[in-house]
Amino acid sequence: MTYTVSPIGFMRSCFKEKFAIPRQPQLAPAARGVLELVAPFDHADALQGLEQVSHVWLLFLFHQALEEKPRLKVRPPRLGGNQSMGVFATRATHRPNGIGQSVVKLDKVEPGRLWVSGIDLLDGTPVLDVKPYVPYADVIVNASNSIASAAPLLILVEWEDNALLQAREHAQRLAEPLIELIEQCLAQDPRPAYQIPAPERRYGAQFWDVDVRWHYPQAGVIRVLEVVAATPRT
Ligand code: SAM
Repeated sequence: MTYTVSPIGFMRSCFKEKFAIPRQPQLAPAARGVLELVAPFDHADALQGLEQVSHVWLLFLFHQALEEKPRLKVRPPRLGGNQSMGVFATRATHRPNGIGQSVVKLDKVEPGRLWVSGIDLLDGTPVLDVKPYVPYADVIVNASNSIASAAPLLILVEWEDNALLQAREHAQRLAEPLIELIEQCLAQDPRPAYQIPAPERRYGAQFWDVDVRWHYPQAGVIRVLEVVAATPRT
């Protein structure tokens, strides 16, 4: 049996590529985006009451990870990418029906749009539903998960002087907390765990419309080298 779902809107996100997006929501509070609703959900009626809610669940499609053949086992990056696990024991993007779920902060409600932060969604992600976070039901104080028992350890993020100046200028132009966004995302260490970063190896990712480049001068430290206008990807 098959069912058809269709997006209620699309996320306009600070994240323009998958690399360097935090692995869960709330890890980068400065990660912001706007859910642009499509008709008929862009009508004020659909949003009435939502201004009384601080956080919402977004149910969405991992549209850049959809696959024909379902996987039963996956290799979550969190486990270093070399240990496999049953798909239902993980929050991996490759999964039956490609459905993701994230609790995000609801910053502002406008006709046809929801401004959200703490997101882990890629730009253009199709969103299937929005539901209010209900603390009495959604907070489970004695819950446990020994596969993902705590947030990832953070690593130190340092800046080249010039990169910090560049980031400040872009932050001002974008009117976005860009420095915080870069620090919060890079502190998660986006590099796949199996890669041993040589100091001369450069890494990069696009946030909003800027390319951020960094390297690992020593183990456990990221140094931001430049923050420049993004070049179009081919
Ligand atoms: N919080 C969600 C969940 O648990 O279902 C997502 C968790 S998943 C491990 C987070 C990763 O999904 C991010 O690091 C990003 O690389 C990836 N991602 C986000 N949006 C995506 C999309 N539209 N298509 C494919 N991958 C996406």
